[in-house]
Formats: sequence, C-alpha cells, structure tokens
Amino acid sequence: MKRLKLVFITLFYIIALSCNDNSKNIQMKDNSKNPGYSHTDTGKVVLSNEEWKERLSPEVYRIAREKGTERAGSSEYEHSKEIGTYYCAVCGNPLFESDTKFESGCGWPSFYKPVSKSSIIYTPDNSHGMQRTEVMCGRCNSHLGHVFNDGPPPTGLRYCINGVVLDFSKAKEAEKKYNQQPGVDTK
Ligand SMILES: [Zn+2]
Repeated sequence: MKRLKLVFITLFYIIALSCNDNSKNIQMKDNSKNPGYSHTDTGKVVLSNEEWKERLSPEVYRIAREKGTERAGSSEYEHSKEIGTYYCAVCGNPLFESDTKFESGCGWPSFYKPVSKSSIIYTPDNSHGMQRTEVMCGRCNSHLGHVFNDGPPPTGLRYCINGVVLDFSKAKEAEKKYNQQPGVDTK
C-alpha cells in the first residue's frame, strides 16, 4: 500500500513538472491592458499620453512616448540571430524581419530595411546638436530610434532601434524549413 502511495506521489510530481515546462515555453507578453495591440490590424492607434501611460510599462513609455534611448548594449535583441519578425512593442505593428538584421556594433539592434514602406514614419531630428532622422512606428507614432546612411547593401541604411520598443516572434515555419535543409543535423 505504501509503495502504491509512493508511485502516485511520483506520478503527481512528473505531471506537475511537465505542466510547468509547457507554461515556460509559451512566452506571451501581457497585452491585456493594451487592447489596441495587434499583429494584423493596420488601423492607426491614436491615444493621449495619459492613456498610453496606463497601457505601457514605464520603460516602454519613456522610450516610445518621450523619445528616450535605452542604454547601449542593454538589449537582448542586439546580437540575436533568431529567425522571425520584430513587432512594435506598443501596438504590434510588424516592423522588421530577422533576415534584414545585421551586426552594426553600434550597441542597438540594427536592421537595413523595414517590413514595408508604411511600417515606419520618418521625421528630421535636430536635437542634441545633431542632424538625424528619427524613425517612428507607422501605426502608433511611437519613437523607435534613428536611421543612418552607413548601413550595408542593398539599402545602405542602418535602422538603429531601441530593443525595449520591439517585440520578437519566432517564425515556427522558417525554423522548421531550416531544420529540414540537407546538412542541418537536428538529432
Ligand atoms: Zn506601434
């Protein structure tokens, strides 16, 4: 009888542990406070600063709505080679594909081309004694970073983007295709 009890307890722990593992794999960002967030809706999102403050984390709010800049080298996305899409962390608008990402060495995630022309809005930025071009999200007008003319071909552009205002989603299909290529050992 005691043995049976032990088997049940062991089984319980195995099931509990495997459930725990599953929840770890699903890394959905909590956007319950941000109902305008969507990866497919292209309609503009226009809200007051007060409304944004309620919906965004203080860190995202500071960069996206107050044109802040994250510390150089602080983004987990800077050196990431994962295959997928980078979305606006404020509204979910698709901004950059991972195959346009490159190592610029500037301290921020860098891309040479946005997903589409309408993904990004450009505006002159003459602050801090520099003449730069600011890039903003085409859907919600959030500040993302700047674009420079020293990028690689084919565009020659370097979109220098704050990782805090990016949401990354891994492309499951792309990953599968890559693993099925001859010469890629998945065992
Ligand atoms: Zn946006």
